[in-house]
Amino acid sequence: MVAWSLFSSDIAIDLGTANTLIWAKGHGIVLNEPSVVAYDRTTRQLIALGHEAHAMIGKTHRDIRVVRPLKDGVIADFEIAESMLRAFIRRVTNGMLPPRRVIVCVPVGITEVEKRAVRDSAEQAGAKDVYLLAEPMAAAIGVGIDVHEPTGNMIVDIGGGTTEIAVIALSGIVAEESVRIAGDEMTNAIIQYFRRQHNMLIGERTAETIKCQIGSAVPLEEEYEIEVRGRNLVTGIPQMIRVTSEEIRHALEEPITVIVQAVLSLLERTPPELAADIYDRGIVLTGGGALLKGLDRRLEEATELPVHVAEDPLTAVVRGGGKVLEEFEAYQSVLLKPRRL
Ligand code: ADP
Ligand code: MG
Repeated sequence: MVAWSLFSSDIAIDLGTANTLIWAKGHGIVLNEPSVVAYDRTTRQLIALGHEAHAMIGKTHRDIRVVRPLKDGVIADFEIAESMLRAFIRRVTNGMLPPRRVIVCVPVGITEVEKRAVRDSAEQAGAKDVYLLAEPMAAAIGVGIDVHEPTGNMIVDIGGGTTEIAVIALSGIVAEESVRIAGDEMTNAIIQYFRRQHNMLIGERTAETIKCQIGSAVPLEEEYEIEVRGRNLVTGIPQMIRVTSEEIRHALEEPITVIVQAVLSLLERTPPELAADIYDRGIVLTGGGALLKGLDRRLEEATELPVHVAEDPLTAVVRGGGKVLEEFEAYQSVLLKPRRL
């Protein structure tokens, strides 16, 4: 990273609700960290960033606040989001040359105010030209789809805060659906389940681990069982219980149903010629939520279409942003226009 900063100054950023990834032109992915910051409550000064801040979740004292500024897919806290973005950019440029051209991948549902905030932050970090790229478009490019051709492709990107579903053809998004139900809601559903069924309070990180290890969307060939530690809500003391993947599947039912319904709803609104293409090609899943066991099968059953999980789904968006950066002229048409005063 240190050497890179001297030579290149173009980057693409996947500013995700859960993870931020940065691609440096000619170098590939140079940063992959949780979108988390820890700051001092009184001075609002940044204390920690990324992995370091993530490790502090649920373990801080009252002077420190640990937040995910983009939590719900939108910018929940402008000031903090801005300093996080600036700090990440500074980290990869190592405080040397500021980036010249910056592509930021943003949710399709982003408002004008949020777009402005994203551009302002990148400009504050020294960027000369800031371009915005819709996340599902970036994901499609990242998984190797030729987005320029007149063929319909459906991408379902399941992140932390939002699920973004889009039909892409001829370098544009033809139809889209965005719901604020994704990985975080799955994690939250597990927390609620323990509270209701076991009178037990478990932390967010514990719940996320359970989800990733044994969470599923369809019955598994081999069901799992794991030990979970938390605090008993009645006695108030720490406790350990064993849970099965069947139980967790049950807990995840609600958010999964919402995602399935959103996919069905967009399929209904897809123009028939493009629907025919999707029938042939199937649906591609990206984002960390795509890794939930059996989610592809669940969507296959609901849609009766082939569903594929992208290779390395967590990096699809930034790889797409990277490709746009590397072949900038060929991909002009997929970008949102830069702001000109
Ligand atoms: P974003 O683009 O919003 O930053 P990501 O695409 O990075 O989101 O995905 C993060 C989400 O994916 C988190 O909610 C995380 O818990 C979830 N996730 C990561 N790995 C898995 C897994 N193996 N099973 C289920 N969910 C996963
Ligand atoms: Mg994402």
